[in-house]
Amino acid sequence: MASPSDRAPLAERVEELLAAGGPLPIVAAGDPVLRRGTERYDGQLAPALLARFVEALRVTMHAAPGVGLAAPQVGVPLRLAVIEDPAPVPAEVAAARGRVPQPFRVLVNPVYEAVGTARAAFFEGCLSVPGWQAVVARPAEVRLRGEDEHGRPVDEVFTGWPARIVQHETDHLDGTLYLDRAELRSLSSNEELARRWTEPTPTTAAKSLGFDLP
Ligand code: ZN
Repeated sequence: MASPSDRAPLAERVEELLAAGGPLPIVAAGDPVLRRGTERYDGQLAPALLARFVEALRVTMHAAPGVGLAAPQVGVPLRLAVIEDPAPVPAEVAAARGRVPQPFRVLVNPVYEAVGTARAAFFEGCLSVPGWQAVVARPAEVRLRGEDEHGRPVDEVFTGWPARIVQHETDHLDGTLYLDRAELRSLSSNEELARRWTEPTPTTAAKSLGFDLP
């Protein structure tokens, strides 16, 4: 159990990060903070500091740009993430991937479990693994439990692309990167992806690169 004196370093670390202003530096794969897992949020940051940290995560996610950002990605080992996806993709891509707009949300102490057995496989990338994307088969539907930034309980089912985002971000909080779950034969540079694999589904990529889809 954390005593008040144990808590000071995390709050101090966040204060230091915020002091610079603007988007926060995003840490890359290879930094142990992405692998160690996180502490449950239980007041380590006072409400005003939490609000400032959440805002900095939002600004950083937008600047990247990305559709989700977990606290460890800015070097803070707290069980906290933000998500937001305006889904700026063509209609046929949106339909195939279930990429519906996801309003801004703060996920505090999230955990998820699969609902049913259906899986969906698409290319995804990570701000901490810049320049690359790979196909990840994930549960198509998940139940997410946790809290919001005001401590109100959350218990919701996510489907489509938002289900992928909440899984990806929650995995970060457990020290898991999408590459741990990816079809490594699908690994593609952003340039090759833009050149070859822009179809709504990765069916042709699976045939050409030699990996299975669910
Ligand atoms: Zn990521």
